[in-house]
Amino acid sequence: MSALPSPSTPTLAAIYAAYEADQGDGFREHLGASLVGKPCERALWYDFRWITPSRFEGRILRLFETGHREETRLVRDLRATGATVLEVDPQTGRQFQVEAQGGHFGGSLDAVALGVLEAPKTWHVVEFKTHATKSFRELIAKGVRAAKPQHWAQMQVYMHLTGITRGLYMAVCKETDALHIERIEADPAEGERLLARAARVIDAHRPPWRISEDPAWFECRFCSHHPVCHLGAAPALTCRSCLHAHPVDSGWRCDRHGQMLDAHAQRAGCARHLFIPELIAGDILEAGEDYVAYRLKDGSCWINDARQAEAPKC
Ligand code: SF4
Ligand code: SF4
Repeated sequence: MSALPSPSTPTLAAIYAAYEADQGDGFREHLGASLVGKPCERALWYDFRWITPSRFEGRILRLFETGHREETRLVRDLRATGATVLEVDPQTGRQFQVEAQGGHFGGSLDAVALGVLEAPKTWHVVEFKTHATKSFRELIAKGVRAAKPQHWAQMQVYMHLTGITRGLYMAVCKETDALHIERIEADPAEGERLLARAARVIDAHRPPWRISEDPAWFECRFCSHHPVCHLGAAPALTCRSCLHAHPVDSGWRCDRHGQMLDAHAQRAGCARHLFIPELIAGDILEAGEDYVAYRLKDGSCWINDARQAEAPKC
């Protein structure tokens, strides 16, 4: 019997590599409304503090793009029912955006719609999502709130900050192209709770509690921050992981240099960078103006020395 051809070819590898080359670090300037419903508050803090750069395979990046492209078709489908669907704010020509916490929290709406057949006179916040078959089945069985609490939270934030009282969740199954459409009612108390959660994360100088101390816990196994959070891996070296930086109204400030930091400067960091101590898996032995010495979990000593070897040796 002849051997099956290899599933990978140089062309296929080059296509995926092109996606990977374009992916950037995935760091977002603000804490996204799409994330605030995550089960673990510590993961949100890591997101906001740019602890783990995103690293996806080309195939997954292409899948994300497929989900994004589906939005155009869902808008067309909704318009075909007679609804008015606005993807951009006519006043700005850009996506409808919401923000809070001095711009540190926010998100962009997929669309808003009027003339939805179930309630034609009511504006709806519209959210489009694509699902794998298993996820889609669960969505139909349980509804958005129980099956996709993160999506439900995202829509609550959008409704809370726009004042729109209804949401329209449009989901498509990637395998069968079946649609699921569900109307969601604004829950002001939940909106307030989610805003308070975002504020807590943004204002925290230290990582919040873990959802579990067990590295094998369900949520932890699928968390991109698992290596830093549970295994002692090094966080990304940017101003956001530095103990001298903190968010202020409409930006970030460095207390070491007494200046504001734009996104470019935050990514670059500087030679005076010192990690927020709770990001290091160890205990502080001693600290000076520009260094912190740690006893790591394996018993060794490590000096986070911004002055490059001027600190005492271990
Ligand atoms: S690894 Fe677990 S505890 Fe740590 S941030 Fe992720 S979900 Fe939270
Ligand atoms: S000391 Fe350097 S790395 Fe730290 S916040 Fe200031 S500019 Fe950023």
